[in-house]
Amino acid sequence: MPHILKIALDIPLDTLFDYRAGELKKEDVGLRVLVSFGRRKMVGLITEISGHSELSSEQIKPVLKVFRDTPALTPDILKLLRFCADYYHHPLGEVIFTALPQRLRSDRAASLPSQISYVLNEAAPQLDELPPRAIVKRKLLAQLAQGSPVTRETLLALSPSANKQLGEMLAKGWIAERQETCLKNFARAASDTIPEPLPTLTPEQAAVIDSCASEPSGFSVSLLLGITGSGKTEVYLRLTASQLEQGRQVLVLVPEINLTPQLEARFQTRFPELTVVSLHSSLSDSERLHHWLLAQSGQARVVLGTRLSVFTPLPELGLIIVDEEHDSSFKQQDGLRYGARDMAVTRAKQNNIPILLGSATPSLESYHNALAGRYHLLRLTRRAVEDAQLPAIRCVDMRNEKPQDGLSATLLRALARNLELGHQSLVFINRRGFAPVLMCNQCGWLAPCLRCASRLVVHLRERRLRCHHCGHEERIPLNCPGCGNLDLAPLGLGTQRLEDALSQHFPAARILRIDRDSTRRKHALRDMLQEVHEERVDILVGTQILAKGHDFKRLTLVGALNVDGALYSADFRAAERLFAQLMQVAGRAGRAAEAGTVLIQTQFPDHPLFEALRLQDYEAFATTQLAERKQAGFPPFCHQALLRAEASQLETALSFLRQAKKIAVPISASITLYDPVPASMARLAGRERAQLLVQADARRDLQRFLHHWNAALAELKVRQVRWSLDVDPLDF
Ligand code: ADP
Ligand code: ZN
Ligand code: ZN
Repeated sequence: MPHILKIALDIPLDTLFDYRAGELKKEDVGLRVLVSFGRRKMVGLITEISGHSELSSEQIKPVLKVFRDTPALTPDILKLLRFCADYYHHPLGEVIFTALPQRLRSDRAASLPSQISYVLNEAAPQLDELPPRAIVKRKLLAQLAQGSPVTRETLLALSPSANKQLGEMLAKGWIAERQETCLKNFARAASDTIPEPLPTLTPEQAAVIDSCASEPSGFSVSLLLGITGSGKTEVYLRLTASQLEQGRQVLVLVPEINLTPQLEARFQTRFPELTVVSLHSSLSDSERLHHWLLAQSGQARVVLGTRLSVFTPLPELGLIIVDEEHDSSFKQQDGLRYGARDMAVTRAKQNNIPILLGSATPSLESYHNALAGRYHLLRLTRRAVEDAQLPAIRCVDMRNEKPQDGLSATLLRALARNLELGHQSLVFINRRGFAPVLMCNQCGWLAPCLRCASRLVVHLRERRLRCHHCGHEERIPLNCPGCGNLDLAPLGLGTQRLEDALSQHFPAARILRIDRDSTRRKHALRDMLQEVHEERVDILVGTQILAKGHDFKRLTLVGALNVDGALYSADFRAAERLFAQLMQVAGRAGRAAEAGTVLIQTQFPDHPLFEALRLQDYEAFATTQLAERKQAGFPPFCHQALLRAEASQLETALSFLRQAKKIAVPISASITLYDPVPASMARLAGRERAQLLVQADARRDLQRFLHHWNAALAELKVRQVRWSLDVDPLDF
């Protein structure tokens, strides 16, 4: 009887498809196949081999081909992908093919590049047993005698007739041929690199490592809360070393922007004989595949990767590390909207191994879990390098300033002084895509939503204010209800304008702007950072791109602009992000021996966020934030999902959402469905976008509700609307 295969295909339908095949074994689950689907041929993946099908045998088509060029996806990865599909309510086929390297989504042959090499056999004669005229054979033997295997390439280079002679030697049984996967970029001989002496751990680092070592084996989550420069990376390296000694593999997840060549180099030099590979979006398709296969085959012992590498097959995985675990780039913002940090925790749980989440400013979700005792909280409170000092953080009270182009006189004076000293300065402008709120520049009034705890969002085109939480809306007022001021404006200031203003103030200064626009070109960011390191820049102007991971030795002054919007933003996570960002930016100042200064321009210098920031006290900040979240009933004290819709007309998207709300069955009293609202960036790429928020007290209730709702939505015959569910959304 032929086997029925349940095949996952990369199409937006939440079903598996039945095909038949001859002899297949259980181990073949996870292999890719070629099938005909409609009029196309498609690559699919075997998720199950079963005895029966709903279809009659004539309806079931045979698979055209089973690919055996790469090993099957192992059951643990399939299990993780299934969980991911269920949790994010996304078709399994799309989840699987999102997780696979691009190359494996096509029917092209995929395997590690291999090479042929030769080894000497017992039967080989000694050199002096060969007649002197057998010059080439003697050369070949001499080479092989120095240590085999020797690659075919090396041997062929010895003589034009090497090929023929090798053939004869093979025939005589003197040598044997081997086919080996090619690791030429990775396998560096241990002798090539001089091992650096390891730094002596600080007492805090030692305590953290001891605590991890004394954990009972199996699943556990540790949250490493360590200020910038406290030596978190050193902790990662030590924990990695201990896993490698036990013959295990380690997966290190980092935000895209943090995967710098420096970090990679730090792992490479620490583990010279072991293969460390990276997986990130700037690799070519073939590099990506190559690294992935090395991980899958167990040859790569350490994988350093961004978001997507959480799905990399690692047969001997012993530990997962997530660096900067709070970083929003771990959450994918389109297609399969998964959260890689959360998937990493799930993977650790499924594999029954420990996971370490590290950050100077953990997400409130993780910190909350630590306070609740679900995660172990580990702290690094001091900088690792002895004379490195923490920067002094001060607020510039903008109520007493008359800023020019957004720059206060205080900041301009500080910049001038720093220029004289020959130090570098950074002017950081907070421009994260949070929704613009309406603010009065005279009295600081911010348009509130009177129906819920949120701030209203400015929709300039329609001249309206909307609450993205509950759906309330009203006209933009003509003057400030607080003081009558007529000059009401959404908060905002651009990097370009700032760059121009700075060059007018400091015509002799070398100014460099680093933001999304100026770094679009490949390697642009790398080149710019190089300029900074070589001290060819006096003032850096930039956005959050600059906030992370880079060590600038001569940078001693940071000015932060445009931060107030986040304090009272409509997005309840804006303050959390602002705090994380300012801590990170502050970490750029004074990495060297010289203490740095951070000047923050704000209308609200007494805000508790700045108080905590001055003291560099994440925990104080997090505690007040959590109290506010609890009172407002926001995450982590509730669980959310967004139904997102887009269409060419806003009304089409909204009416779909109204319909969606109508058919929803709130299966539990804890489920709240809000009204549909236009998204804060309602118009994007010519499409109108709107959304509907669902909230529940318990994750399980939300999941059960979404399961039914998703199925019901799929039944709706909607035209001209693209919709998707976003579970645990980060951006509203
Ligand atoms: P983080 O990842 O917490 O920002 P790093 O691990 O990058 O911190 O460490 C910051 C600096 O301190 C680096 O230059 C690192 O080499 C150095 N460092 C870390 N641990 C030690 C130690 N135990 N002794 C001396 N220097 C250390
Ligand atoms: Zn006012
Ligand atoms: Zn509201």
